[in-house]
Amino acid sequence: MPYNPVTDEILEALRGIVGEEHLVLRADLAEEYSHDEMAPVRGWPEVAVFPRSTEEIARIVTLAHENRIPVTTRGAGTGLMGGATAVEGGILLVTARMDRVLEVDEANMVARIEPGVVLLTFQEEMEKRGFFYAPDPGEKSATIGGNVMTNAGGMRAVKHGVTRDHVRGLKVVTADGSVIDLGGKVAKNASGYNLMHLMIGSEGTLGIVTEITVRLLPLPAELTSLLVPFQSLEDAVGVVPTLGKEGIIPQALEFFRRDVLEASTDYLGRAFPHGGAPVYLLLRMEASSPAEMERLIDRTGRLCLEAGAEDVLIADTAERQRALWDARGAFLEALGWSEQDECDIVVPRDRIAEIVLYSDRIAEDIGLRLSSFGHAGDGNIHINILRENLERGEWESRRDRVMELIYQKCAELGGKVSGEHGIGHSKRAFLAQYSHPVELEMMRRIKAAFDPGGILNPGKIL
Ligand SMILES: Cc1cc2nc3c(=O)[nH]c(=O)nc-3n(C[C@H](O)[C@H](O)[C@H](O)COP(=O)(O)OP(=O)(O)OC[C@H]3O[C@@H](n4cnc5c(N)ncnc54)[C@H](O)[C@@H]3O)c2cc1C
Repeated sequence: MPYNPVTDEILEALRGIVGEEHLVLRADLAEEYSHDEMAPVRGWPEVAVFPRSTEEIARIVTLAHENRIPVTTRGAGTGLMGGATAVEGGILLVTARMDRVLEVDEANMVARIEPGVVLLTFQEEMEKRGFFYAPDPGEKSATIGGNVMTNAGGMRAVKHGVTRDHVRGLKVVTADGSVIDLGGKVAKNASGYNLMHLMIGSEGTLGIVTEITVRLLPLPAELTSLLVPFQSLEDAVGVVPTLGKEGIIPQALEFFRRDVLEASTDYLGRAFPHGGAPVYLLLRMEASSPAEMERLIDRTGRLCLEAGAEDVLIADTAERQRALWDARGAFLEALGWSEQDECDIVVPRDRIAEIVLYSDRIAEDIGLRLSSFGHAGDGNIHINILRENLERGEWESRRDRVMELIYQKCAELGGKVSGEHGIGHSKRAFLAQYSHPVELEMMRRIKAAFDPGGILNPGKIL
């Protein structure tokens, strides 16, 4: 059934909810609101609204529900799969004004925040209070609402898990405008089906999150980073299962190769503490005392050298650590946004080299350049397919062929279509192809149970 347009009456009603100054018509909307950070997916809403409260969102969704108008929620728009793009028009609901930390409950070690709180701001604010918010996806300007709805991963997932592992409660506006609380401040919960966990990672298709209760941890006492150059990818990622078997769980464990490192240092205009190795592991270790850190570094360094590492460089000052992680953090930007597409696959940790070397081979056969790097500690690899000088049509057809083969190989290795960036609009076909038909049908029924009219972020995931 087609959607209805946003009429003058609806616009008037929306102005009555958010106020004239917090509503922008399509003609006046900045171009950035028609897409997210990478996906070659474009879509213009008929109107964008910038609400300030749960109550305003509930009224907007009730209006959309009664008039069958699509509602796409947008945090900071840093997603990479077209999730926050209004591909069916309608209303774009931007959470930027809902950026308050509502409560820090020190006794229960939780914070209650609005969805538009920016990740970096929140991390810094909690650090000042002596707390650690562990999820650490690469893009710090993302909102925590967007992180929750994509179940964002990031660097510290090896030790601390993904965003899901740090959410205790959600306030949600459902597709008919009702407001429900899922979870809460409680540390465990076995009370029936866990709708909160279904909501997390649902990319705005099941409900709109208007408040989040997150878990806080004590700040780690000691942090040290290790840069470990290797001659071969197999040796480098081969250390990962060995560290796990030895009970060494770094806070972060990344791998990258020379090409992307050079792109990043050129982009930043900064030197890197080591040059020339074909492959690197970058680790951040967390310990509760200097003595424990020393033991950890000794054991990790020894295992890396036994696995063929050329050297183990220790960065123990904040400045040195920043130099390493800034270079890592700039990889995606350095590769050029508009001229790439990516596979965000995840494979069992012992299959990383196999999928990366396979994708290198097929890219060479098909005549495309790609650049792979990722979270070695959890098998999540970002394979970025670069357009370079190819004519657009030719690039798209080669990219599609490469992607098909990569996802096929990923499935053969027991991997999944997305490790952390989600499905959004651009990877729906691959989710459909590599999910069991019964699993897909269950997902469709879940969507229909939460959103029978299909107004919440249509054209995403399924
Ligand atoms: C340089 C760079 C590095 C990145 N590194 C990582 C990384 O390490 N790990 C990682 O996981 N991701 C990473 N990302 C991807 C991106 O930052 C994450 O997906 C992030 O969680 C998106 O947050 P956002 O606020 O920008 O959300 P948006 O892009 O605005 O939205 C993302 C999805 O969430 C939905 N949504 C947002 N807010 C709400 C809400 N309140 N209620 C319901 N639905 C909502 C949207 O509809 C959309 O489907 C990176 C991106 C960039 C550009």
